[in-house]
Amino acid sequence: MKFGDVPELFGYENYIIARPVLYNFLHSKVPKERIHMGVKITETSQNDNGVKIHCSNGAVCEGDILVGADGAYSIVRQNMYNQLKAEKKLSPTDAKPLPYSTECLVGQTRVLDLGDFPRLNQEDCQFRNIVGDNKPYSWMTFTMKDNTLCYVIVKYLDQEKSKHDGSFNNSEWGSKAAKAFCKEVQDFPIVSGSKKPLTLGDLIAWTDKDKISKVMLEEKVFETWYHGRIVLLGDGE
Ligand SMILES: Cc1cc2nc3c(=O)[nH]c(=O)nc-3n(C[C@H](O)[C@H](O)[C@H](O)COP(=O)(O)OP(=O)(O)OC[C@H]3O[C@@H](n4cnc5c(N)ncnc54)[C@H](O)[C@@H]3O)c2cc1C
Repeated sequence: MKFGDVPELFGYENYIIARPVLYNFLHSKVPKERIHMGVKITETSQNDNGVKIHCSNGAVCEGDILVGADGAYSIVRQNMYNQLKAEKKLSPTDAKPLPYSTECLVGQTRVLDLGDFPRLNQEDCQFRNIVGDNKPYSWMTFTMKDNTLCYVIVKYLDQEKSKHDGSFNNSEWGSKAAKAFCKEVQDFPIVSGSKKPLTLGDLIAWTDKDKISKVMLEEKVFETWYHGRIVLLGDGE
């Protein structure tokens, strides 16, 4: 498939948009009273008559159905699976914890000088994916409309891990761990359009500390995505 075939195949172009911009856009389209910010669902329950959610602010809401769209660590899914487990209906695959086989570093630079990174000058997003030669890494860079650059660096692990493994160590995921990851990859080359050869180290130096994180890409497709009055949507299923 060629990049130019995308609109014909899918009906629209691909867009790359920073998460805060997307959130703000969605927020501006939904009436304010329909969104409760800073409130977490802590518990869910259901019976033949309806479904109930308990929230972190003490509120309890009732309804006919519940759509859980609360992400990869969905509390709605966890509660639904606890119920299925108690009823001895949870499949062995769904009972297993989320596995991961890659570690990932993501970042977004400050607004850059076009002289430092001439490819920012191009109208279309300049998306470059580099696969390491004999190294267990791949790295992607993509230019944004606001003259910033986003990057994703993926490290492929030798074996599948899980947060429930005895070897899992929380200290591998804080800001110190992100710093160590940056050091590991700082000499990897990138394509910038500049005469001066640039590396991921340059991008890291152009990034504010709070705009860089090491994330775990836990991957699993669950089999059960509904039960009774509860249905899951998005990463939670
Ligand atoms: C590093 C990274 C890069 C990615 N890049 C891309 C990409 O380039 N393109 C792409 O298409 N996808 C990308 N993804 C995947 C994409 O982000 C997810 O697939 C998508 O966000 C899933 O949407 P969702 O609505 O299921 O969950 P989320 O976007 O995770 O939303 C869940 C929401 O539920 C809220 N929530 C969680 N728990 C509770 C609770 N107990 N009570 C109330 N609310 C709760 C959270 O605050 C959050 O707002 C990326 C993911 C990661 C981690």
